[in-house]
Amino acid sequence: MSEADVIIVGAGLAGLVAATELTDLGKKVIIVEQEPRQNLGGQAFWSLGGLFLVDSPEQRRLGVRDSRDLAWQDWLGAAGFDRDEDNWPRRWAEAYVDFAAGEKRSWLRSMGHRLFPVVGWAERGGGNATGHGNSVPRFHLTWGTGPGVVEPFERRAVQAEAAGRLEFRFRHQVDGLVTQNGHVVGVRGTVLEPSDEPRGAPSSRERIGDFELRAGAVILASGGIGANHDLVRQNWPERLGKPPQRMVSGVPAHVDGRMLSIGAAAGGRLINRDRMWHYTEGIENWDPIWPLHGIRILPGPSSMWFDKFGHRLPVPLYPGYDTLATLAHLGRVGSDYSWFVLTQSIIKKEFALSGSEQNPDLTGKSWRLTAGRAFGKKATGPVEAFKQHGTDFIVADNFDSMVQRMNALTGENLLDAGALRQEIEARDRELANPFTKDAQVMGIRNARLYLGDKVIRTAKPHRILDEAHWPLIAVRLNILTRKTLGGFETDLDARVFGTGGQLVPGLYAVGEAAGFGGGGMHGYRSLEGTFLGGCLFSGRIAGRAAAQDV
Ligand SMILES: Cc1cc2nc3c(=O)[nH]c(=O)nc-3n(C[C@H](O)[C@H](O)[C@H](O)COP(=O)(O)OP(=O)(O)OC[C@H]3O[C@@H](n4cnc5c(N)ncnc54)[C@H](O)[C@@H]3O)c2cc1C
Repeated sequence: MSEADVIIVGAGLAGLVAATELTDLGKKVIIVEQEPRQNLGGQAFWSLGGLFLVDSPEQRRLGVRDSRDLAWQDWLGAAGFDRDEDNWPRRWAEAYVDFAAGEKRSWLRSMGHRLFPVVGWAERGGGNATGHGNSVPRFHLTWGTGPGVVEPFERRAVQAEAAGRLEFRFRHQVDGLVTQNGHVVGVRGTVLEPSDEPRGAPSSRERIGDFELRAGAVILASGGIGANHDLVRQNWPERLGKPPQRMVSGVPAHVDGRMLSIGAAAGGRLINRDRMWHYTEGIENWDPIWPLHGIRILPGPSSMWFDKFGHRLPVPLYPGYDTLATLAHLGRVGSDYSWFVLTQSIIKKEFALSGSEQNPDLTGKSWRLTAGRAFGKKATGPVEAFKQHGTDFIVADNFDSMVQRMNALTGENLLDAGALRQEIEARDRELANPFTKDAQVMGIRNARLYLGDKVIRTAKPHRILDEAHWPLIAVRLNILTRKTLGGFETDLDARVFGTGGQLVPGLYAVGEAAGFGGGGMHGYRSLEGTFLGGCLFSGRIAGRAAAQDV
């Protein structure tokens, strides 16, 4: 006996999108979720709400000329597809770029979603035109950040719940898929004790019962592996060097990766597990919500970047240029943390912190507070709070004492004040040269040609050793786990393939569990803002396809 047309595992963004598409088409849906109701929306709630859009009115208003073809060129350069397994991911990527250049914005807008008018320029690349990176700014911030992305789908889901078409089973943790003659026909698992933990905090795994539910199809929307550092290390590829001993978590504890092996045990094929998207600019949250909570700095281009030995990172590994190449470089030289050195003038304009709770101005939709980013004397409140309380921050009025404190913080004594000063003086000298051979200085000047960066993201070029711009600031940067780029291999209807290359009847996968589409539509790298978008796109496709099938 079926309890629903479709069961969805996971009440994150991808699950909510699939569910609401299904209920709009008249289907009965159950969402099974291990966390309590207050976690509705999963990771997306905590996200910055950055969305990859192509040739948008926001870009055009800022003088940015973008096109579908340019975006596809950039995507291919970033993805570096090079395996047989990239067949479906590549097809998903192309369909997704079409979506980002087409219906994505108007679809969201029709549900009340709105954008902040200044488009960000993430992952600039810094190599050849055909290599990694966004040729133009494309990172569109949601007005209201992550909660603003979740809101339309939460609203639609709650309406469907009230109408009796959608049922949530919170505190239901799936431990296995039920199959019959090779068809996936349901889920089984553990009922967990109720939890009052606040959103994002880990909840108890105390069992109070068991359950089994049946339906015509099951959609896996269970997210990735970022909170499970053992699994991250296990999947860490050689090309990134040794996995760091110490990492911080950019995701809540529920991103545990368990469901991937459960889906695989039922016959689903996992591909590209070695592809992950972890950041190199993680700082320990002084006011943590989840275990080992780290926050990613989204840096502007001016901070100087040094490995733990005090060597400046090579061209083009500048802040905001190439996440994966930076991670690989640090891995190769054995630097499991690194340093930004900057000034108050730089931090004020260039430090943004990823996370809805770190951006009360944008999350709270306050134009007055947001204006402070362009005109304020200080950095945003949360950045100033990190300067004051963050264990990774050193704020100093004297260069030598800054270096002493950097050495004291790590206890490794790897930094030589004289050598560090020499490197910074050399860079500072290049600022007086209008032609300059320092590629980072060129990059800063280039960034300021874009109005959006000039207004809120790139400090006026100045010497780091110019005391007028002090205090001096050093920030220890940790490796921060975040996104899983591989996952269940799926066709363009989000149906999961089995290990023999045949589809597993009744099984779908979406969002991060499916590598955001196909089993890894990003290939090796992301252009950013593509994860939420991948959840929206794959959730929508799976909802519509499953509605036809059941
Ligand atoms: C701080 C932060 C900032 C980010 N910023 C951006 C950004 O600006 N732009 C962007 O594109 N992306 C961003 N991301 C990434 C993006 O938010 C995620 O990749 C995306 O939300 C993943 O959604 P999902 O629905 O696939 O998975 P999740 O949100 O992880 O949801 C999966 C759900 O499944 C449940 N579940 C898992 N296993 C089981 C099981 N066995 N039984 C029952 N339930 C289970 C989990 O409890 C969870 O609720 C950010 C992420 C974070 C954390």
